[in-house]
Amino acid sequence: MKLARRMDSFEESATMEIGGKITRLNAQGRDIISFAAGEPDFDTPDFIKQAAVNAINKGFNKYTPVAGNDAIKTAIIEFTQKTLGVTYAKNEVIVSLGAKHSLYNISQALFDEWDEVIIFSPYWVSYPNQVLLAGAKPVFVNCDAKNGFMPDIDDLKKKITPATKAIILNSPCNPTGAVYSNEIIRKIAEIAVEDDIILISDEIYDAIVYDGARPLSPVQLGDDVKKQTILVNGFSKTFSMTGWRLGYSLASADVTTAMVKIQSQSTSNPVTPMQYAAVEALKDLSFLAPRLEEFRKRRDVIVKALNSLDGVKCTTPTGAFYVFPDFSGWIGKKIDGEEIKDSASLANLLIEKAEIGPVPGAAFGAENHLRFSYALSEKQITEGMRRLSAFAAKLTD
Ligand code: PMP
Ligand code: GLU
Repeated sequence: MKLARRMDSFEESATMEIGGKITRLNAQGRDIISFAAGEPDFDTPDFIKQAAVNAINKGFNKYTPVAGNDAIKTAIIEFTQKTLGVTYAKNEVIVSLGAKHSLYNISQALFDEWDEVIIFSPYWVSYPNQVLLAGAKPVFVNCDAKNGFMPDIDDLKKKITPATKAIILNSPCNPTGAVYSNEIIRKIAEIAVEDDIILISDEIYDAIVYDGARPLSPVQLGDDVKKQTILVNGFSKTFSMTGWRLGYSLASADVTTAMVKIQSQSTSNPVTPMQYAAVEALKDLSFLAPRLEEFRKRRDVIVKALNSLDGVKCTTPTGAFYVFPDFSGWIGKKIDGEEIKDSASLANLLIEKAEIGPVPGAAFGAENHLRFSYALSEKQITEGMRRLSAFAAKLTD
């Protein structure tokens, strides 16, 4: 069948694709340790699961208003007030089917053809594709590993043109795990206000932080910046609710109304019993601290193991559950006569010959890197790193 022309300009999500490939190979009898998971391995806390069961049994199984029911909007507003000290009205909240869906609605509501949208690179795989799908143009600004993957503000200033419509921010960042400094957030916010550029702040990993890191949200910088910002968050990562598909955005009423219009013609409301469970979730985050401690331990194990390999450099991130090591020292080397040409060929060879599955950096706009999720047990991480080290020992020039 002849597909729409827009299908030529964007790709399937690489993170989803690689996770699926490893699951398929393992179902055929392989024993590949997946470092591709973009989701916590911990289960949804019991009190949230029970709240969903209760909601179903009470008969909360019908449509709700498109943007979510009153209870979840109120819970999100109160939660944001508590965590960020910032107040929103109910017509500034829309709950969607995951933060990915929130971001999709935003791009459809805001971007026209020829608009330019600034994305910090390395970036999460869906940003450029959603921008392209809206007909706009992604423009990349570099975040160098040497600077802890902080955005290069001079590069940002150079890339701004009269066509720049928005800047997408993601701190803590997927794939680098970087938490942007307050100074960087302030500088970006200043530029946005001065040049009338919309800030889209994806804060989905805001609670997954270590070593005392405290990500600053641009909306905390006062009303001028708040007016200019669309804040995106969700339940997937903090609450281990990836499969429940619940995310939300907070933005001025005009943007929110436009998003509601799009959602009313596409998915309608987010899943009703899950909305009721999410209200309960936001009341109690006491389950999170031991999980963060576990993530931190695993992060330390994987960073140490990666840095012990010749030709590999890995920074220690303070957020999310990914590390993004540089494998430049391995490019051009061979294993069993096969050359490592780039991050994709390295990832493929690691699946084939070492039975471990990270995601190639190219998917995130950063060649020569690999993304390792550490949302898997310490035992699996240690075994995976043993396999990586055995692979390294077989590399030849
Ligand atoms: N933003 C980032 C940076 C992510 O890593 C993810 C994970 N998929 C999302 C948004 C979307 O999350 P979800 O749709 O599960 O809420
Ligand atoms: N955000 C996760 C990841 O980057 C989940 C997969 C996806 O939504 O792309 O792996």
